Amino acid sequence: MKILLDERQVRAGVLRMAEAIGAEYGSRPLTVIAVMTGSVVLLADLIRLLAMPLRVGVLQASSYKGSTERGELIINADLMPDVTDHDVLVVDDIFDTGHTLTKVVARLRQLRPTSVRTSVLLRKAGRQEVAYEPDFVAFEIPDEFVVGYGLDYRDAYRNLPYIATLDEDDIASTLP
Ligand code: 5GP
Ligand code: MG
Repeated sequence: MKILLDERQVRAGVLRMAEAIGAEYGSRPLTVIAVMTGSVVLLADLIRLLAMPLRVGVLQASSYKGSTERGELIINADLMPDVTDHDVLVVDDIFDTGHTLTKVVARLRQLRPTSVRTSVLLRKAGRQEVAYEPDFVAFEIPDEFVVGYGLDYRDAYRNLPYIATLDEDDIASTLP
């Protein structure tokens, strides 16, 4: 395992992103919607750096492998507060191809919020397959598989306080 962003770097990046979010919304009330489960650590750190009145909800986005090449994205919004006429900020761990976040935003827009913006911890360079760009990004990273700070490999490593890349040995030793 190789550390890509250590704890101190992650903290500084999240703080920068929180300041940008604060500058955008000022003291307007905000509804933060976290995409589970990868964003759970970022959610906890980020909301404690935001000073406006805010509500927190979560949704789950999971892809089901069907006959099509890209599995259909199933969004479970049961644990979300009412977002109609609210400013919504979606929080996710990583913007890779961009399909997940684009679909989450499209789904939320159907509920007629006042606005929908997105914030992600990581954005992978050169991987995007959609026209959409997240509004707030803490770090741009190279195209490598990363774990830690909420991000998993087979449900492991979410608790690491830093972001690391996996090598062959880590992959072999991860429990299924
Ligand atoms: P997208 O739809 O943007 O391609 O993928 C977004 C989702 O794929 C992320 O929310 C995350 O769950 C997963 N993902 C993409 N890249 C990585 C990575 O490097 N590490 C981990 N752990 N998950 C990733
Ligand atoms: Mg995810």
